[in-house]
Amino acid sequence: MIPAAYAVLNIDAAKHNLKQVRKFAPHAKIMAVIKANGYGHGLLRIAQALKPIDAFAVARVDEGIRLRKTGIKTPITVLEGFTCHDELNAFLEHQLDAVIHSYCQLEVLAERPEKNQLSIWLKMDTGMNRLGFKPADYKAVYERLQHYVIIKQPINLMTHLANADAKEDGDTPTQINLFTYTINSLQLSIPNQNKRSIANSAGILAWPSAITDWVRPGIMLYGISPFADNTGNQLNLKPIMSLHSRLIAVKQLSKGDKVGYAGTWTCPKDTTLGVIAIGYGDGYPRYAKAGTPVLVNGQRVPLIGRVSMDMITVDLGSQPNAKAGDPVTLWGEDLAVEEIALCADTIPYTLVCGITQRVQIVEKSAL
Ligand SMILES: *Cc1c(COP(=O)(O)O)cnc(C)c1O
Repeated sequence: MIPAAYAVLNIDAAKHNLKQVRKFAPHAKIMAVIKANGYGHGLLRIAQALKPIDAFAVARVDEGIRLRKTGIKTPITVLEGFTCHDELNAFLEHQLDAVIHSYCQLEVLAERPEKNQLSIWLKMDTGMNRLGFKPADYKAVYERLQHYVIIKQPINLMTHLANADAKEDGDTPTQINLFTYTINSLQLSIPNQNKRSIANSAGILAWPSAITDWVRPGIMLYGISPFADNTGNQLNLKPIMSLHSRLIAVKQLSKGDKVGYAGTWTCPKDTTLGVIAIGYGDGYPRYAKAGTPVLVNGQRVPLIGRVSMDMITVDLGSQPNAKAGDPVTLWGEDLAVEEIALCADTIPYTLVCGITQRVQIVEKSAL
C-alpha cells in the first residue's frame, strides 16, 4: 500500500532534459550536477538515469564515495574540494576530481609526494564571493600548482555565475569577461588543453557566451526552470518529480470560523473544508500562502490556513462532491513546482531538495 504522501519520479524525463542541455550546448561536455541527493530525487537513481554522461558533480566527498561504491566509473568532481589530508586521501582512493579554491588547500597539496594523482578544477572568484581565487591572484596560484607533483596536468579552469537567472543583468557578462580575460593572461603550459567551465542551468539557457568546454547543469536536468518567470514546461523541460497525497477529511464550516494554528484564516462565508495529509514534515513549504493552488481530483483549489506538520487545509467550494480518499497533487506535471515556490516565497530548488524521509518514492515505470 502506498502511504498518503508519496512522490512519483518519472525517470525517463531525466533523459529528455539531458537532451535539452545538449541542444543548448551541442559542443560542450556535460557535468551533471547531482549534489544534495540528486536535488532530492535520489543520488544513485539520478546517476543511473543520466548515464552515459561525461561527468558528475557533487558538493561533498561523501556523495562522491557513495557513487563510487555502487561501481560508477564516470569522472566525478567534488565542487567543495577538500580541507585536510584525510579528505584528500579519499579523493585519491576513490579517484574523485577536486575543485581547488583556497590557499589552505594549496598548503595540503604542497606536502603530498604522490605523482600525477589528482585532477583538479582551479576555481576563480569572478564576483560570487563564495569559493575561489580572486582574478588578481589566479595566475600566481596557477603557476604554483605547476610545481605540485600530485596534480595531474593540464589544470581545468572554472568559475561560477552569481546571477545568471536574471536575464538582463550586467553582472553575468562582467563575470564571463573577467574569467576569459584572466585566463588569456595565463601562460598556459599546454595551450588549449586547459578545459574551461562557467555555466550552470541559467547560464546554459540564457547566456550563450557562458557555454565553454564544459557545462554544469543542475536544476534543468530535473525539469525545473532556474528562472522565476518561466516554468520548466515553457523551456521544453519535463519535471521528474510530482508530489501527491490524498484528502483525509471533508467538513462544513460556517462564516466566521477560523482555520488552523493561530487561526490565520477566517472563513468569509460558509465553507467546505478539505484536510489533506501533507505538511512541512513531508517537505511541503510551511510558508505557502493562502491561495497556493492544490490539485484535488485534478482541479485547482486554494490552500487556506497555516501549513502544519502533517496536514494542510483547502477550500473545497468548487468541489462539493470531494470526499476522503480523493487524490491530491501538490506539484508535478499539471501544477508547476515553480508556481508553488513563488507562492511560498522560495525557489523550486528548496522544494524538491526538501522532500523528507516520510515521503515514499515511487518510480513511474514501477506504477
Ligand atoms: C549547484 C551548482 C551548479 C548547478 O546549478 P543549477 O542552477 O542547479 O544548474 C553548477 N555549478 C556549481 C559550482 C554549483 O554549485
